[in-house]
Amino acid sequence: MEEDLEIAIKVVIVGNGAVGKSSMIQRYCKGIFTKDYKKTIGVDFLEKEIELDGEEIRLMLWDTAGQEEFDSITRAYYRGAQACVLAFSITDRASFEAIDSWKKKVEVEVGEIPMVLVQNKLDLIDEACVSEEDCELLAQRLKMELFKTSVKDNLNIDSVFEYLAETYLSHM
Ligand code: GDP
Repeated sequence: MEEDLEIAIKVVIVGNGAVGKSSMIQRYCKGIFTKDYKKTIGVDFLEKEIELDGEEIRLMLWDTAGQEEFDSITRAYYRGAQACVLAFSITDRASFEAIDSWKKKVEVEVGEIPMVLVQNKLDLIDEACVSEEDCELLAQRLKMELFKTSVKDNLNIDSVFEYLAETYLSHM
């Protein structure tokens, strides 16, 4: 009899609205980037299979569908999360300053899980209002790995999720 040894990891992507969370999931799972991607309420997550150290890993990437501000919805969203992306945009100072509170929200619901810090929209560096130094200092303070991404240019997106999967596996 064949045993099903597949590992599935629920990953939640959190952060303020418009930092690129949905786009990141679309990019990673479907390989697309659209400027006007409309969030579909009712679609909870997209999946992506990767192979890591000879293991088949199924990543389930959960999207808040623009409901970030509703606590009742986010409760269900966080339930059972095993890894987390904390995302902000370098063109949105408030999204950077909100990272601490997003981290707390996740930890209140699910405790400590592997997390990674993502500074998105690197292609818009000319319009940045968060400095490189600020980002590095935040990562140091939170003791988290920092990934500089552009969903638009497909920069570093795969690395974010590979890193999370690896970190999750090494803590299993
Ligand atoms: P969410 O609310 O965090 O899920 O953000 P969305 O994924 O809906 O993205 C908000 C807007 O930012 C959309 O118009 C995206 O096309 C755009 N966007 C997302 N990522 C990037 C990026 O890396 N660079 C640029 N220039 N735009 C991006």
